[in-house]
Amino acid sequence: MAQIQFKSEQVRREYADHRVPPLLRRIVGFVAAVVPEPYDVLITDVWRSREETRRIYGRYKHSPHHHWRAVDLVLVGPDGGRAGDDVYTHVKARVGDAFSGLRPLWWPFPICIYHDVGRGKHLHLQVWRGAK
Ligand SMILES: [Zn+2]
Repeated sequence: MAQIQFKSEQVRREYADHRVPPLLRRIVGFVAAVVPEPYDVLITDVWRSREETRRIYGRYKHSPHHHWRAVDLVLVGPDGGRAGDDVYTHVKARVGDAFSGLRPLWWPFPICIYHDVGRGKHLHLQVWRGAK
């Protein structure tokens, strides 16, 4: 099973915060369980301020990171290299299969997105308000 690492002590503390829904940690644990060898999970972002979102996108944009309901992670090999697109696509499909059915009808968003918003490709995991 892949290790879960953190980009910084601050990110480690944020991930442990009680405002992070337990379901989100369960999904991260699932990712660690299905990531193929030799990759580990590196959590890069949890909470984000509105100002930081403005810096990233160049404008204000709603984000579940503002509400502790999203985690960004990358998959890193032992040499620090990132996994290829195929590995991310595989993990994203597994997350979708395992968790999409839990979404409430009023929250029609994907739980796992693979994208690059300017700081490199990563998996963005998100859950709905009130997720337990
Ligand atoms: Zn994100």
